[in-house]
Amino acid sequence: LADLGARLRGALSSVESGSDEEINQMIKDICSALLESDVNIKLVVKLRDNIKLKIKSDLSTSGNNMNEKRKKLQKIIYDELCGLVDSHEEPPKPTKLSVNSSKTSGHTVTKIINGKKVKVTANKNNVKESSYVIMFVGLQGSGKTTSCTKLAVYYKKRGFKVGLVCADTFRAGAFDQLKQNAIKASIPYFGSYLEQDPVKIANEGVEKFKQEKFDIIIVDTSGRHRQEQQLFNEMIQISEMIAPSQTIMVMDGSIGQAAESQAKAFKESANFGSIILTKMDGHAKGGGAISAVAITKTPIIFIGTGEHVNDFEIFKPSTFISKLLGIGDLQGLIEQVQSLNLQNDENHKKTLENIKEGKFTLRDFQNQLNNFLKMGPLTNIASMIPGMSNLMSQVGEEETSDKIKNMIFIMDSMTQEELESDGRLFVKQPSRIIRVAKGSGCPAVEIEMVLQQHRMMSTMAKSAAAANPDGTPSGGPG
Ligand code: GDP
Ligand code: MG
Repeated sequence: LADLGARLRGALSSVESGSDEEINQMIKDICSALLESDVNIKLVVKLRDNIKLKIKSDLSTSGNNMNEKRKKLQKIIYDELCGLVDSHEEPPKPTKLSVNSSKTSGHTVTKIINGKKVKVTANKNNVKESSYVIMFVGLQGSGKTTSCTKLAVYYKKRGFKVGLVCADTFRAGAFDQLKQNAIKASIPYFGSYLEQDPVKIANEGVEKFKQEKFDIIIVDTSGRHRQEQQLFNEMIQISEMIAPSQTIMVMDGSIGQAAESQAKAFKESANFGSIILTKMDGHAKGGGAISAVAITKTPIIFIGTGEHVNDFEIFKPSTFISKLLGIGDLQGLIEQVQSLNLQNDENHKKTLENIKEGKFTLRDFQNQLNNFLKMGPLTNIASMIPGMSNLMSQVGEEETSDKIKNMIFIMDSMTQEELESDGRLFVKQPSRIIRVAKGSGCPAVEIEMVLQQHRMMSTMAKSAAAANPDGTPSGGPG
């Protein structure tokens, strides 16, 4: 969808004087860009009407202040585009077995037993512990097996114990494919070369991993070529046997307008709760799939952007549209960081406090960079930050990671005073830059780059704090 993004950004930035003609041209450009990436025409017409209405009511109040006008325009377009890809449904979320049990059974209450105060664990017998089972459905070739591993790796990185089950007995070599992916990613797997009954294998695999207390069990199924009855029967049988906590439909994002009917057909028999769109890389016209699933009221949770296991991005309407429009996505960033379970990380707490107060020191920046390294796929993370994305979009995952490590390394050569500062003392005393360069063995331009990146993030942090005086993050640009 790179083309769509470029065209939308072009349309937005073409407004200079704010004249009616200019604005009308912008709306036209936006609509034709959407249509050409396969977004349903009815949706585009509705979007156009909404934008026009909002511009009428919102822009008239901004007088001739062009800056304010442009900001409002951007916000209107942003909101409407978010609406276009938003199912307005919350996707289901897995929970950790261990966390589950410590939360419920670890809750202690004080009771008086035999005249003595004793602490007892509440609710212990009521704790129902079971693994979170995810079943994958979708047509053959849509990217199920690939996405299974991607999802497993995603959760593994976040501390979940994940197992993969291959219940595809239809395609020869299906088990080998899953096995190879799993071994590469060090994910435990289950499957059989001999057993022909997918229901039996699915059940055996799920039971085995349940006994071994896995947090998440992901079951890959077969797809066949068409949406034939046999496929749907098999899906229903497996589903009845393993009773999944969640069913995910995998859909090839490049199928365009056909997405709607395919999603509807699968919804009827498999009743999936969320969608993974694949093959959204390159020049795929993903607009059809993205907007059609919003019609079927099912949230897209991830998009696949390549064959490699790291080519996997969380899909959130606001994040997705922010990226398309090239605006930073602080909300997405905050959520990514939150998903790392950093509650007990003192550095992180301090950084959050600072951000709430509108502060963002170099040390905060260094902490954030350390967090990025834990989050992976770094290129996705970087694209949430304006400036950072330009710096890093040209290079691959490894190079991005090396760059971030280098920035952290450079900051290790700064003094306490410098790290606790907003960075301005480097501007006042450029000799400090030379000193850090010598200390870290890096050229001075790299030190300046770190300072520049810090300034950019600092601006974002400050505008977030200004927009949210109470510290709760809000979506999108304000
Ligand atoms: P399945 O039949 O549904 O299990 O589909 P597979 O996982 O075997 O994928 C089919 C083909 O699509 C394979 O060649 C994958 O490498 C490829 N593929 C899967 N996801 C993506 C993606 O996000 N982008 C690209 N470019 N290729 C993908
Ligand atoms: Mg497969």
